[in-house]
Amino acid sequence: MTGWTPIAEEAERATRVLHPDEPFPKPNRRRVLTVANQKGGVGKTTSAVNLAAAMAMRGLKVLVVDLDPQGNASTALGVEHRSGTPSVYEALIGEVSLADAAVVSDQSENLYCVPATIDLAGAEIELVAMTARETRLKEALTDQVLDNIRPDYVFIDCPPSLGLLTVNAMVAAEEVFIPIQCEYYALEGLSQLLNNIELVQNHLNQGLWVSTILLTMYDGRTKLADQVTAEVRRHFGDTVLKTVIPRSVKVSEAPGFGQTVLTYDPGSRGAMCYLDAAREIAERGAAQEATSE
Ligand code: ADP
Ligand code: MG
Repeated sequence: MTGWTPIAEEAERATRVLHPDEPFPKPNRRRVLTVANQKGGVGKTTSAVNLAAAMAMRGLKVLVVDLDPQGNASTALGVEHRSGTPSVYEALIGEVSLADAAVVSDQSENLYCVPATIDLAGAEIELVAMTARETRLKEALTDQVLDNIRPDYVFIDCPPSLGLLTVNAMVAAEEVFIPIQCEYYALEGLSQLLNNIELVQNHLNQGLWVSTILLTMYDGRTKLADQVTAEVRRHFGDTVLKTVIPRSVKVSEAPGFGQTVLTYDPGSRGAMCYLDAAREIAERGAAQEATSE
């Protein structure tokens, strides 16, 4: 990881001003990514909403499914999520269709969000007694249901646990997206996550794979951040995006204004890095399809 100088940063900004807003390539097929890591505070929600917003701003249609009862993704996208609002909870228990619970975010007309309300907190227990309890989200996410939204990308923002909600997310998706915080305990718990993914592969969703890892909250002032970065890249190779998300105050402030960093401070490094990461994902998506045909 090379250092980031103020001059390099300014040059980068200038380049972007000169070549603005090129659209990202669409995938041939809808990509559904589950943003998972049972550790809390590693940047799942932040990554889901900012990547989604970046893609939406570059012409892709994106749906964020908030599957965490805390509703942080809904907050960041400026979407109503008071108790009683039609949400992912009603969709899981079959009361409304997911499409009817989806609302357009004021961040972009291409960006939809299915909010999570506190009602979801009881779902983990309620679901246990229901039939097809692991496949409820998958059933809610079918083409017919999503026909009027037609998203290119779906990001499912998981709660910080490996419970039934996360299992539902892994069954509903083809890809797992894992954010890893550049901190000392970054890799702790990762093998447990990978074990769970394997269990889901073996029993519920054969096609599931870890397609993308994103390093978040990188602090260039610490040696540790570089060590963690190197270690994660050594373990996971090309699954790890080249772009690393820096620790940035702007990124953490944005949700307080019901915004992503992409609208809160579009010129900030955090916004640019999320834009770069989103571009990488979109380009990989386009390439994936080309080679698999
Ligand atoms: P998770 O969804 O995994 O629990 P969050 O995305 O909510 O994690 O992030 C945890 C906290 O860290 C939040 O307060 C968020 O604003 C902050 N945060 C996330 N990414 C960054 C970043 N790149 N720089 C600074 N703060 C960040
Ligand atoms: Mg979260």
